[in-house]
Amino acid sequence: MNAEMMSCPVCGCLLSREEREETCAYKGSSVTYMQPGWWCGTCDEAIFKGADNVIGNALFAELRARVDGILSPSQVRDIRKRMGLTQRQASALFGGGPNAFQKYESGTITPSVGISILIKLMESNQESVQVLSEIRAQLHEMPFAIPGIKRVSMSRQTA
Ligand SMILES: [Zn+2]
Repeated sequence: MNAEMMSCPVCGCLLSREEREETCAYKGSSVTYMQPGWWCGTCDEAIFKGADNVIGNALFAELRARVDGILSPSQVRDIRKRMGLTQRQASALFGGGPNAFQKYESGTITPSVGISILIKLMESNQESVQVLSEIRAQLHEMPFAIPGIKRVSMSRQTA
């Protein structure tokens, strides 16, 4: 079938290529925007292909980020790049597994409020990358905090 001649899967009418006002909602908040796609003039059914879906998905991610008070995928990417870190380096710094930033930036998972705050904190000062890295190392070296315990010996797997 020719892409210019798609018919509606619901009513069979011919679809036309246009942009229509759509609303994207999350937890009682919403944004209205123009959604490109193949729209049915008869029953309001629409087919979104390729880039059509990118717009809606990106908008939903931004809305969710504003409502939940976290960074959106594109904001995480922008800050990480501005700080000169690769996805792997940023993941090593903030934890969450070696692919954490790949997942934040693709929207597969959302960063927590705490991670979002730390990323913003890092953005506020170039030296904070070094500070965060030192804190990360310190957390591995802290003594056991159990009152009254005698002689603790920990054996550690070397990476
Ligand atoms: Zn239709």
